[in-house]
Amino acid sequence: MGGLKVRLEDIPPEGLRLEFEEGPELLADCFPTEGPVVARVFLKRAGIDVKARGHIRAKVRLACDRCLEEFVWVVDEDFEVEFRPQASLPLREEMQLSREDLEVIFFEGEEIPVSDLVREQVILSVPDKRLCREDCQGLCPVCGQNLNAGSCGCHRRKPSPFAVLKELMARKVQTGKGG
Ligand SMILES: [Zn+2]
Ligand SMILES: [Zn+2]
Repeated sequence: MGGLKVRLEDIPPEGLRLEFEEGPELLADCFPTEGPVVARVFLKRAGIDVKARGHIRAKVRLACDRCLEEFVWVVDEDFEVEFRPQASLPLREEMQLSREDLEVIFFEGEEIPVSDLVREQVILSVPDKRLCREDCQGLCPVCGQNLNAGSCGCHRRKPSPFAVLKELMARKVQTGKGG
């Protein structure tokens, strides 16, 4: 993987402050972005670990789960993670368990993958449930019209779960009698 990486030896004792922008290619395989991803990252060494905290700002285009329309989701988030050398994994397993609250990322070699970090954080900040707005009306199940744009005039009756159950029971009774 490409992107910005910081060598451990380039992080001074007082920490390293980075401000940079990433183009749309950073998230190209996840979702399109509008404008750059703006990142602030502060790296500080802590023993063999490197603590990273910062801020990300981005606009990503998502498709609404209900009405399928595209909308812009604004990412504006702080983050805090800890990088730990992959090589230390077997030795520090116990310690890792006691620190579950902090997100730990294992890294290989002598470089902190800063671009990958920013990418991860943007992806994490996108909600699982993607709605263009809280009260999105979705699509008409009959004609497919986007109901946010207005009613389509279809005769829509949402069958209640009880009605469905009642119907099923009635059918069962009928088949029972008949057969
Ligand atoms: Zn929607
Ligand atoms: Zn309709």
